[in-house]
Amino acid sequence: MTTKRVPRRVAANVVVYASVLATLCGCATRPTGELTRFEFTRPEMGLPFRMLLYAPDRLSAEAAAEAGFARIHQLNDTFSDYDYDSELSRLSRTSGSGQKVEVSEDLWRVLTLAQSLAKRSDGAFDVTVGPYVNLWRKARRDKQFPAPERLERARRAVGFGHLRLDAGNRTVELDVPNMRLDLGAIAKGYAVDEALKVLKEHGIRSALVGGSGDMAASDPPPARKGWRIEVAPLDAPDAPPTRYVLLSNRAIATSGDSFQRLEIEGRRYSHIVDPRTGLGLTDHSLVTVIAPDCVTADSLATTVSVLGPDRGIRLVEQTRQAAVHLVRKPGDRIESIDSSRFARFYEGPDTSR
Ligand code: AMP
Ligand code: MG
Repeated sequence: MTTKRVPRRVAANVVVYASVLATLCGCATRPTGELTRFEFTRPEMGLPFRMLLYAPDRLSAEAAAEAGFARIHQLNDTFSDYDYDSELSRLSRTSGSGQKVEVSEDLWRVLTLAQSLAKRSDGAFDVTVGPYVNLWRKARRDKQFPAPERLERARRAVGFGHLRLDAGNRTVELDVPNMRLDLGAIAKGYAVDEALKVLKEHGIRSALVGGSGDMAASDPPPARKGWRIEVAPLDAPDAPPTRYVLLSNRAIATSGDSFQRLEIEGRRYSHIVDPRTGLGLTDHSLVTVIAPDCVTADSLATTVSVLGPDRGIRLVEQTRQAAVHLVRKPGDRIESIDSSRFARFYEGPDTSR
């Protein structure tokens, strides 16, 4: 996952942060009826995870948040492709050995969702892209295009057809050598959903959980219609003005190349790879998806980035209760497109179009 650049340092921090949680979050504000708003932030999966929640008192808020963060931490131990000992890394190391590996419930669920989206998107979404992603990570470090022979070698170890799931026995087989699974486009969304579930189990009905651009909300804050969330604007001087959406019992995720990209001879290559070519995307775009859960929003946002507006929007329209907002700059002009269900989430009257 891209989100795990500093797993060991993060792991160390977690111990520290756990012990100072009360200071970190000492930010209860504005009692509303019987509920008070609390905010917690902690680095997990290599980025700051944030929880906003309404609880009757500090003790119950802290207990819930602590359990939510612990769940995210546990999922990082399962899904990280940086951590040599994670369940995912161990699975990747069995590739080409003929082994059928029994996996945990969490890994099974994420891989099942990933394969279903891979099929629906004709392989635009593909968690076997690890070998390509590694080449592009190195390319970013060296500021050099990956060597063609390396791309060719990586190509032999990529393809969602090589990831075989046996539902009867819940086993996974990676059927060619040197495969490397990468859940960077889906695991964060799953972790956000799971953390929100944990908060619910602790009696917290109104909460927002977010890991960078991926967020999920339960019921609205007291006396509000929803959680007000900024739709990420395109990083361009002439980008359209910032818009906000109001969400409850929904998730939102943004995918794009604003933060991670490589520039070679004036061309910008994104950290998102087109699995069909092995190349980082060069289309400068920002894709925001709203869906009933964050694992769907996260994975769909990356998929639409790869598919582009026409096929991408069609895929989202075919996905239950999903909506997409896409901003791109194909040439000099900025293009902003919403799928049919997106406008209903905008806050207030739509005056900008
Ligand atoms: P996101 O920021 O959610 O769009 O996820 C991007 C990350 O997903 C990358 O940093 C890679 O780790 C991984 N990734 C890149 N390209 C793809 C792809 N085509 N399908 C699935 N995962 C990808
Ligand atoms: Mg994503």
